[in-house]
Amino acid sequence: MGYIGRPMANNLIHVADIEAPARCVVFDKDGTLIDFHAIWGPRLERGAAALAEAADLGNEFLGQLYRAAGYDPADGTTSGQGPLATAPLHQFTVVIASVVYQHGINWDEALELSQEHIGAAMTARPNPKEIIPKGAVTESLRRLNEAGIRTTIATTDNRSATEAMLDTLDLRRFFTDVRCGDDTGPVKPDTAVLEGIAATLQLNVSDLIMVGDTVSDLAMARKAGAALCVGVTGGAGSIEQLQPHADVLIEDVGQIRPA
Ligand SMILES: [Mg+2]
Repeated sequence: MGYIGRPMANNLIHVADIEAPARCVVFDKDGTLIDFHAIWGPRLERGAAALAEAADLGNEFLGQLYRAAGYDPADGTTSGQGPLATAPLHQFTVVIASVVYQHGINWDEALELSQEHIGAAMTARPNPKEIIPKGAVTESLRRLNEAGIRTTIATTDNRSATEAMLDTLDLRRFFTDVRCGDDTGPVKPDTAVLEGIAATLQLNVSDLIMVGDTVSDLAMARKAGAALCVGVTGGAGSIEQLQPHADVLIEDVGQIRPA
């Protein structure tokens, strides 16, 4: 992966109307770099419908499945602190399997049905229509890299979907480190994810700015001691949820600029 720019610049970073010294910006993926809602609600609905059909279960099952996932099919909204917004796939399939189990199907079969149908829907290779950048992503990353600021990704999504996003939006060259939910090793919100990124770059966590659209991202960053916890609105987390955990809220990553 490429790294552009001066490695040891004086790294003051502006985020909206505040600033902090930092050497690296860690981005969440869904809801931060790309639109959250364009992907995950429709995917869950497709997987849930296939699962209901395969298990011969009806609307009551679907209602319970959506509540367990933290998703409202009536208006397509996702709960910012629920499993759909924050859990890696291996946890999410267990959440859904427990709903299947509660409808009279034995556990082994419930898990298999969840992995087969929910797993397939959630891990299908994203098509370009599902990958919508949230604001001026490329410009923001280029500016940061040119100023000597490293940029990295920490997502709970799988590596294959993450790489599809990087290729579709031609962003691969900007990231020195990409950590995914199915990698071996720690997964968000474990603070070891940020500690690992810092260690790889020979930095401290206090040199990192974390940018994310969920409480999970921001609480992790604050607990780890990041330089700034930046909340992105319009993703899975509401402003009311994010505010107490964020040093600053932005609408998109274009509001992050080197000094
Ligand atoms: Mg997110």
